[in-house]
Amino acid sequence: MPRYDFECTPCAYYTEITQSMDAPSVIECPVCGQQTLQKAFITPPRIFVRGEAKTVGQLAERNYKDMGFYEKSERVEKDNKDGMTTEQKEKRKLHQKITSMTPEQKIKWIKNGD
Ligand SMILES: [Zn+2]
Repeated sequence: MPRYDFECTPCAYYTEITQSMDAPSVIECPVCGQQTLQKAFITPPRIFVRGEAKTVGQLAERNYKDMGFYEKSERVEKDNKDGMTTEQKEKRKLHQKITSMTPEQKIKWIKNGD
């Protein structure tokens, strides 16, 4: 017989119960004495996961959490390197590009924009 995790919402009682698959998913809680001990799904059903994020912001937040701690800290480090903003970095890149040009290339760049 499969083993299920049961959780009582009102009193937060948590237990593992071995029962048949067609057994009731809500049983009496030994702590509350009420019919509030419910089968808890370790892997939530797909429909539950899909309905979790309701806005783009929530979805982004969830994706950010999913990235994991290592990736997050790495991203922060990259963004703050040299204490420069992305805009400043772009400007510096452009300056370096212009500096590395030959006079002919510079004239062409000024005329054509690229
Ligand atoms: Zn309870």
